[in-house]
Amino acid sequence: MTEPSHPTAECEDAMAQVQAFLHNELPASAADLIRAHLDACDKCLEDFDVEAEITRLVRRAASGTCAPARLRMSINSLTVRVHRWE
Ligand SMILES: [Zn+2]
Repeated sequence: MTEPSHPTAECEDAMAQVQAFLHNELPASAADLIRAHLDACDKCLEDFDVEAEITRLVRRAASGTCAPARLRMSINSLTVRVHRWE
């Protein structure tokens, strides 16, 4: 019996919270877990279109007036990691 390599239970946990993560609604400890998962698992970035969502949020944060500085920093730190795969 072979197990599917993706998604793992860890992926499902991370993706269940990814929208909250992207909107900066998670406590720092939970956000760190998701950031670490996305850093390690490019499948999640692809499957859940996380990168496109981040790009949208970064654009909005860069041009908009409603994004708090903390959200900008959080998104930017993740974007640096995402861009390693480009
Ligand atoms: Zn994953």
